[in-house]
Amino acid sequence: MSQLSTMDAVPNRIEDRRSACPGLFRMAKALDGAICRVKLTFGTLSAEQAHRIADAARQFGNGVIEITNRANLQIRGVRPDTENPLIAALLAAGLGPLTDRGDDVRNVMVSPIAGVVPGSFDVRPLALQLLEILQTDASYQRLSPKFSILVDGGESVAMVEHPHDIWLSAIDAESPRFALGVAGMPPTGADDTSALGSVDASRAMQLITAILDVFIDWNAANPAASRLRHMIAAIGRDAFAAQLEKRLNFSIRNEQADEWRRSLPRPHGHLGLLPERGSDHRLAGAMPPLGRLDPDGLDAVAELAEKSSNGKLLITPWQSIMLPEVPEAMASQTVRELEALGFAARPDNPLATMISCSGSAGCGSALGATQADGLKLSALLRGRAPDMAVHLTGCAKSCASPSAKPVTLVATEPGYYNIFLRATNGPSRFGKLLAAHVTIEEAADWIGNLPLNSRPSTQRPLTSGSGGPPHA
Ligand code: SF4
Repeated sequence: MSQLSTMDAVPNRIEDRRSACPGLFRMAKALDGAICRVKLTFGTLSAEQAHRIADAARQFGNGVIEITNRANLQIRGVRPDTENPLIAALLAAGLGPLTDRGDDVRNVMVSPIAGVVPGSFDVRPLALQLLEILQTDASYQRLSPKFSILVDGGESVAMVEHPHDIWLSAIDAESPRFALGVAGMPPTGADDTSALGSVDASRAMQLITAILDVFIDWNAANPAASRLRHMIAAIGRDAFAAQLEKRLNFSIRNEQADEWRRSLPRPHGHLGLLPERGSDHRLAGAMPPLGRLDPDGLDAVAELAEKSSNGKLLITPWQSIMLPEVPEAMASQTVRELEALGFAARPDNPLATMISCSGSAGCGSALGATQADGLKLSALLRGRAPDMAVHLTGCAKSCASPSAKPVTLVATEPGYYNIFLRATNGPSRFGKLLAAHVTIEEAADWIGNLPLNSRPSTQRPLTSGSGGPPHA
């Protein structure tokens, strides 16, 4: 099945849904214009497509291109009269869904290095099959645009902090079995919620569709709910597992699943250089400031991809970019060229791990200019807070991150923030309060002067929440 390629293939504009995420056909209104989200299959993008997106953002938007925490791109500042030409340009670039109603539900995440580095199970065939079913089966097109599925091959570079409606995780690189869970993420610590069960890889697709069917049936009687976490909160894990096993006609619960823990990903593995499987090639990763690019910046990284990585780019859920297939001899130079473009490739650069929502530059709910303040804070923190991922958010909705980061600054009024440190047991969703209502200069001192032994780990705390704010 091929992707939609023209506006003729989109007979009806997708109706507005209250609180729905932006998409390709349904742009969300913001202070700076509409937001058009371009969903990428597993974050992959060709250099040609990157140039087309840059052109589209230049022509039809306000020139701001954001990387989201689901490894998608979004074009901001779209005017009402340019929405249709923008959609047409993106469809012509091969960036559309398989069906007109498939855009909302194509939310399947895999590691950006799935299948290309040693030591992991290649989940791409399963994830592709799943993406196709979601987009083409009408019953699944009723799922919330926020409904998301993680298919994890156990890679050393993986985002396993974000909660998903459904997650599958390969038990080990050689094992043809997956651990599975709903309304959460793979457990990594002793106190984390265990997997719901495990299944042979040959039954993974049957399992996922059964979970979807169980949820859709329940949702029909509970239409106010939209996510699996609502169902789990209402009926509990055990009742859910029992319903699932009844539908599958086999058992998923077992001791292996209770005890299984995912190995922790490598901290900051998406930055710098990484070897590829069975070749002398490397992946080169770096972060654009606050996960944002302008059209010239995207054109420049696309040109670098044409020169260094066979014209391929990988967009990551850390809101960064990786270039795959870089010959070993060019690898260090490629990283230097990314840095010359303003990207940060080393974790000791605060901009390599700092994220922010649009703040008052683009959002009417923002209490602060998070983008400008983030750039100011990163300059003040240089050399003072290595390895400290910081998130600035314009309000408590936390659009830029569905999970708590080691340090979160929540705007209280223009120029002022509350600072939270991630903690195992709250009390806030961001952790514990470090300082209230401080300026950016004061925030830099608070963060920069944190004793080493009181700094939150880059890895998430052992106890994981399963709720979750909206995804950016
Ligand atoms: S977190 Fe709040 S301020 Fe930031 S984009 Fe979301 S709603 Fe707006």
